[in-house]
Amino acid sequence: MITFHIITIFPHILDSYLSESILKRAQKNKLIKVKIYDLRKFSKDKHKKARPTEQSFGRVDAKPYGGGPGMVMQAEPLIKAVASILKIKNQKSKIKNKTKIILFSPVGKQFDSASSRSFAKKYKDIILIAGRYEGIDARVKKIFKAEEVSIGPYVLMGGELPAMVLIDSISRQVKGVLGSEESLEDERGLGIPAYTRPETVRYKDKNYKVPKVLLSGDHKKIEEWRKGQSK
Ligand code: SAM
Repeated sequence: MITFHIITIFPHILDSYLSESILKRAQKNKLIKVKIYDLRKFSKDKHKKARPTEQSFGRVDAKPYGGGPGMVMQAEPLIKAVASILKIKNQKSKIKNKTKIILFSPVGKQFDSASSRSFAKKYKDIILIAGRYEGIDARVKKIFKAEEVSIGPYVLMGGELPAMVLIDSISRQVKGVLGSEESLEDERGLGIPAYTRPETVRYKDKNYKVPKVLLSGDHKKIEEWRKGQSK
């Protein structure tokens, strides 16, 4: 089982995705576990009214040193959150080999199928730190030797969707998560065109037909055709 730990200031933002379909089943079958940590609970002033809208929760951001627009996520609440997940009681405790700590950034290492397979194989616990605002105080990456990961060359509002992308993709690699009818594309090839009933689809006076080979019943030919189409 892989346990994903997400540290975020929006602890409910991923609830619906995690409580439907294959990921719901994977959690129920104890193949994966997803734990969500509200970063504000690790803030020093968690009992103060930091902002009128945040009521009893604390601040986790501050202005950047050197000036500039926006806010930066402070190191201390993040350090406390990660340390509590790692159960680091004192500074001498070590990060376990089977734990991976990931930070997100649009310019981090591009996440791909190879990283997904490798993470699924190597790690039992994956800590995903979802950044917001202008990003995270750079010392967090250094302290925990975290890997900075990007899910693509564009800028999102925060790291929660990237965290979800990793969870979805890595979970597919965990044995038993996909049912037999949802087998891994890695084994079948990617981008193979798929067709289902009816044989002919009509749109604006034109007929769109299923390739004949798929109706032939000749499994060898179908396999060859699919191989040829696979990207
Ligand atoms: N100012 C930051 C920079 O120059 O890298 C961008 C901050 S972005 C608005 C807020 C957060 O969203 C980032 O800290 C990161 O956690 C996440 N994020 C945005 N785009 C991402 C991407 N393409 N891949 C992974 N994470 C991303």
